[in-house]
Amino acid sequence: MSQTEPPVQPEDPSQGPRVIFFDTTLRDGEQSPGCTMHADEKLRLAHQIASLGVDILEAGFAIASEGDSESIRTIAREVRGPKIASLARCKREDIEAAARSVEPAHRARIHTFLSTSDLHLAAKLQITREQALDQIAEMVALARTYQDDVEFSPEDATRTDRDFLIKVCEVAIQAGATTLNLPDTVGYCIPQDYAQMFTDVRTRIPRIDAEGIILSAHCHDDLGLAVANTIASVEAGVRQVECAINGIGERAGNASLEELAAIFITRKDKLPYRHNIVMSKLYPTSQMLAECITFGAAPNKAIVGANAFAHAAGIHQHGVMVNPLTYEIMTPSSVGVPHNSLVLGKHSGRRALEQRYVELGQPLTREQLNVVYTRFTELADRKKTIYDQDLLSLLKPAKDVPVTA
Ligand code: MN
Repeated sequence: MSQTEPPVQPEDPSQGPRVIFFDTTLRDGEQSPGCTMHADEKLRLAHQIASLGVDILEAGFAIASEGDSESIRTIAREVRGPKIASLARCKREDIEAAARSVEPAHRARIHTFLSTSDLHLAAKLQITREQALDQIAEMVALARTYQDDVEFSPEDATRTDRDFLIKVCEVAIQAGATTLNLPDTVGYCIPQDYAQMFTDVRTRIPRIDAEGIILSAHCHDDLGLAVANTIASVEAGVRQVECAINGIGERAGNASLEELAAIFITRKDKLPYRHNIVMSKLYPTSQMLAECITFGAAPNKAIVGANAFAHAAGIHQHGVMVNPLTYEIMTPSSVGVPHNSLVLGKHSGRRALEQRYVELGQPLTREQLNVVYTRFTELADRKKTIYDQDLLSLLKPAKDVPVTA
């Protein structure tokens, strides 16, 4: 059990405020198409996500099914390190189911939510604003009878009337919410909108800063802005970021955990925030998720995609071999990618080819390289991907190319 205990990095206030990472891969991620997981896969991933150093692990939506609540309970019993959370609507039976499923955890959270935009209130819930406020007050208070750590989310916060949103936040805090998550449920915001919402809430509700209520971001990627919006919100005072491995989640997905983690490390100069993510576990975790669901990260996905550290153009390949910093802003090994892969194809230069033959244990003389390079470019015109086997076979028919350098 304790093998998932993440290394706790020493607190160093000079490194800036701490950002809490809330992982929802197993909840928002798992409920999206192609991402359904069996209980044993969820448990395996939960151990991995815990070892990645996330602070909160949202393990599921307990009321959704018997299987979901059992799986949250198993994770709560076996996974150590992060707080284990379950989602719950603002309904008594949801809160009770969530409370039961996280009960075995060392540290737990109940995350309850209610839509607050007029559109959702009328079309989905068919309740008035006043009824919504009563329901929030009553259900947050109920959740607090089970756990001291309660997160409340006004769903569709970014399309909620601002004055009403302020009231909602005040009511949730008064009822005992310790974290207020204001989601961009439909992925409509641009960074300045999203940041402004948090600035308004902090300005109009001084209790938030005075009492240390944590503000949280939850963004969807419908316009490709989930990560950008999340970063903007952190600059406006948000201290918890909700995210998922490989950015999986409803529709276009959630903010990608690996991108957020890498941004705070790589751009510490402009974004001086600490977090507890173990960077070298990003790639292995991304790979493990891909094994459990029906798709992996797109090849051109930042940080963890197959091409994220691949250099195909000759000029780039030469540069990276001389000094990786010429075209890489972080090293592949820092995010757990086994090695930098120079992809050989028709755009490759002869230096990359020479280097690959060295790696294959077949160093070439300049003359040999000239001959083989010509053959290589002919092959690359016919074949998109050149594998190591192809390179070795380029040497073979070449009686005129003795392979000893
Ligand atoms: Mn969501």
